[in-house]
Amino acid sequence: MSSCIPHSWGRRPPSQPRQLIACRDTQILPLPDEPLTCLPFGNGRSYGDVGLNNGGALLLTRRLDRFIAFDPTLGVLRAEAGVLLSEILALIVPQGWFLPVTPGTRFVTLGGVIANDVHGKNHHLAGSFGRHVRAFELLRSDGKRLLCTPEQNSDWFQATVSGLGLTGLITWVEIELQRIANPWIVVENQRFGSLDEFLALDAEYESRYPYIVSWIDCAATGRALGRGIYMAGRHAPPGIFKSAPPDRRPLTVPLMLPISLVNQLSVAAFNRLYYHLPRPVRGLTPYPPFFYPLDNLQEWNRLYGRRGFFQYQCVIPPDHAREALLEMLARIAASGQGSMLAVLKRFGNQVSGGLLSFPRPGVTLALDFPNQGQKTLDLLDRLDEVTRQASGAVYPAKDARMSGDSFRRYFPRWAEFSRFVDPRFSSSLWRRVIGEG
Ligand SMILES: Cc1cc2nc3c(=O)[nH]c(=O)nc-3n(C[C@H](O)[C@H](O)[C@H](O)COP(=O)(O)OP(=O)(O)OC[C@H]3O[C@@H](n4cnc5c(N)ncnc54)[C@H](O)[C@@H]3O)c2cc1C
Repeated sequence: MSSCIPHSWGRRPPSQPRQLIACRDTQILPLPDEPLTCLPFGNGRSYGDVGLNNGGALLLTRRLDRFIAFDPTLGVLRAEAGVLLSEILALIVPQGWFLPVTPGTRFVTLGGVIANDVHGKNHHLAGSFGRHVRAFELLRSDGKRLLCTPEQNSDWFQATVSGLGLTGLITWVEIELQRIANPWIVVENQRFGSLDEFLALDAEYESRYPYIVSWIDCAATGRALGRGIYMAGRHAPPGIFKSAPPDRRPLTVPLMLPISLVNQLSVAAFNRLYYHLPRPVRGLTPYPPFFYPLDNLQEWNRLYGRRGFFQYQCVIPPDHAREALLEMLARIAASGQGSMLAVLKRFGNQVSGGLLSFPRPGVTLALDFPNQGQKTLDLLDRLDEVTRQASGAVYPAKDARMSGDSFRRYFPRWAEFSRFVDPRFSSSLWRRVIGEG
């Protein structure tokens, strides 16, 4: 298949659209010929098949890239849905504003972050992205335009925030920004030796820092099981390093590798080194490496080779989090799979706005797994057993394989949601978990 076919970040499953249609104008929804269905495609940073529509058409939204309005006094921004968060940051940071919520990469579109109702390192304070959306326009395949706000067409608002691209095309979005005093981040790093230590640190830091995330060593076993690095940050106060931080030129992985460089040996060695690496307890850092550590190595997904990789992200409710996560970490370590990229974070109690929103109170674990075929799929099924037993959920933005039964348990409002699905829209994920009907 040609490399210009848009694919998902994990390259699993392969992307096989029948038609690619570029959206250029928010006034027009270009539809494929009947009976093909269509699906908006943002910047392809979802890992699995939520943004794929194999056998149908993809509506490429990146050319919907105009800013419509920015009020630097109130911090309100309106832009077309194909604008990237990186483009927004370039505009707003020099004027003292920041995104209210941001995922771990800035190379995502406004439409994409709404459709997955993404979360960031400040979930315990700010909740998910949908909570900061003031309005958007939804264009349906019958030509209807719906202005959606939390008050107006609120049912469509709720269905489209976390709507997985299925309710129609979001043409433009208006969001509320947060004021910052300067673009540098005050960070604090702590090693933790176990999950209990992680939970204790979290209880202490949660009220002191708006941004928290942890790296966890998924290769550790025995007494080292559950160890990791706790990272907390806040925007620096005015006065220190007020000038814009220097932007380093990103490196790029130039080629798709035939085999994965990520394997049992490289993960164990890297993790041991990373855990013990001396690092300052407190420091100041520009915002990009703090929020987007992976953006500095473009196309890093190529390191996993042609077979691609899976990401597994689950959230486990607070009461079951400790036992369920220990069980998962033990299963992952015993399998010898997993990668260096493993992240642990606590979600707060803020209610997410969407019918299919993933964030909910609890602890979330996210890990990459090089694709080793059935062996990897079996492990992910074993992780799902734990998630299901603990009444948790798996994140559709990262998924390429959960069963329909699991999806319906994790997202009990799916039937209510399905009434809002546009009849001309569909996705590989939706057909996989719900079926054609
Ligand atoms: C390195 C990395 C780190 C990440 N970190 C996080 C994180 O911390 N938190 C988190 O929540 N997620 C995270 N993600 C996932 C990412 O934020 C989401 O998958 C996001 O939705 C991707 O946006 P995109 O523009 O690439 O959209 P795509 O992946 O192309 O599409 C995502 C969904 O949005 C729909 N869509 C896109 N545009 C429109 C539109 N205009 N109208 C209607 N629907 C539309 C698509 O149909 C699809 O269902 C991360 C991803 C990567 C690669």
